[in-house]
Amino acid sequence: MRTRIAPSPTGFPHVGTAYIALFNLCFAKAHGGEFILRIEDTDRARSTKQSETMILDSLKWLGLNWSEGPDVGGPHAPYRQSERGSVYAEHADKLLASGHAFRCFCDTQTLDTMREDQRAAGETPRYDGRCMSIDPEAAEQRAKTEAHVVRMKVPSGAGDEFSGGQEHCVIKDTLRGTVEYPWSQIDMQVLVKTDGMPTYHLASVVDDHLMQITHVIRGEEWLPSTPKHVLLYQYFGWEAPTFAHMPLLRNPDKSKLSKRKNPTSISFYKDMGYLPEALLNFLGRMGYSLPSDAERFTLDEMIQSFDISRVSLGGPIFEIDKLDWLNAQWIKELTPAQLTARLIAWAASRTDQLKAAAAITPRISKFSDAIDWLRPYYMGLPAVTAEDFAHKSLTPEQVLEHFQLAVWCLEGLSEWSEESVKGALMGLAETLEVKLRDFIAPFFVAMSGSSASVPVMNLMADTGADMTLARLRHAVEALGGIGKKKLKSLEKRYQELSV
Ligand code: GLU
Repeated sequence: MRTRIAPSPTGFPHVGTAYIALFNLCFAKAHGGEFILRIEDTDRARSTKQSETMILDSLKWLGLNWSEGPDVGGPHAPYRQSERGSVYAEHADKLLASGHAFRCFCDTQTLDTMREDQRAAGETPRYDGRCMSIDPEAAEQRAKTEAHVVRMKVPSGAGDEFSGGQEHCVIKDTLRGTVEYPWSQIDMQVLVKTDGMPTYHLASVVDDHLMQITHVIRGEEWLPSTPKHVLLYQYFGWEAPTFAHMPLLRNPDKSKLSKRKNPTSISFYKDMGYLPEALLNFLGRMGYSLPSDAERFTLDEMIQSFDISRVSLGGPIFEIDKLDWLNAQWIKELTPAQLTARLIAWAASRTDQLKAAAAITPRISKFSDAIDWLRPYYMGLPAVTAEDFAHKSLTPEQVLEHFQLAVWCLEGLSEWSEESVKGALMGLAETLEVKLRDFIAPFFVAMSGSSASVPVMNLMADTGADMTLARLRHAVEALGGIGKKKLKSLEKRYQELSV
């Protein structure tokens, strides 16, 4: 048996990725199979090398090791989709030749009007198939010079030649049983984009087949895409893998886990000093329990007794208090010598010590002075209240807005470095026409809990994106938070600022 995790390197290493990876690994290992890793970077505009590195490092930190992947190679290399372009082109051509796909020349405006008309008529917006009537030879000619995409055909009903005589598209999910989708709900999915890159749908089906994946265990957000995938397997004449769609992780208020309510990046939990074995244990308990009902268990113990039918579909709640409790149990298991060694290793991983030393040198006259100055490099979220942000020329409302705008600006950085952080914040202050001195003062408090701190932009760069953003979001909450309405208008303002 073979399972895989297939992250897209477009942001932080998400705890949801680790949760899905954990279940894939347990399933494969429990059956004596292999767990592999593939990088899905076909979105060239949003994928970054830094994100890929962070994802790989975070999964390795957790001990979720794969036997094939871009870093370790393997018989199905390359394992990075951006390096597999010719494989997808060849498969798209096969579908065009067999009449299961067609070239579509509709521009954005045509598609927008089509969707608007459908919405006005009370229909679900979907591609209406108009380019299917273009003679395939004429389409090939036009394709040489005209921008276009390749779309898959979808059966129009039970009588259609591709429907296999079925009234609905029937998919089987190990956790959910049989799920049926009416053909009318399945869109003629784009398989190859105008830039020649495949979409996720084509690339993942082709790769899962070629990489001999037997079980696709992924988040339930992919369930509605599965009918398209099942059709593609059928069009290629391949056997589809077994699907299992895991319940999504949720915030305590049951909404989908979001970084506004909980930090969601694995590196945040690493930086906070959670033990990888405790975080894994916590993720393992998301919708799953051991037959023994043990609360504390190792990865090996989870593998030994793994049974996918024990996964419950009720949305698992990601509660930091529970994680704290579990982490404390793991810490209590360590001997003083082990704890010391792990604390030292954690501290070393937290900061670039030479940079921190350079920042505190002008500020200390003896080593004991260093303790307070160094605190912000190691601590978690500072204990701050609204009063701590009082400013001589900015209202609390302005400070709150600046923090939120900065969060968006910093989230948008494709590279996290002193230069990029400085560029983003100085650019924002300038666009807002606020003096940098005034603008930046509250950031010292948000990052260190005090207005006297080491240079704040250096601190942000060194503390890392996850921890910086978590502290800024924490400051927003300390200032009363931002309601939905306010958030919408601020978002609009942010777009207009075009920083
Ligand atoms: N690249 C997809 C993601 O990042 C993978 C989905 C799948 O596992 O099929 O979520």
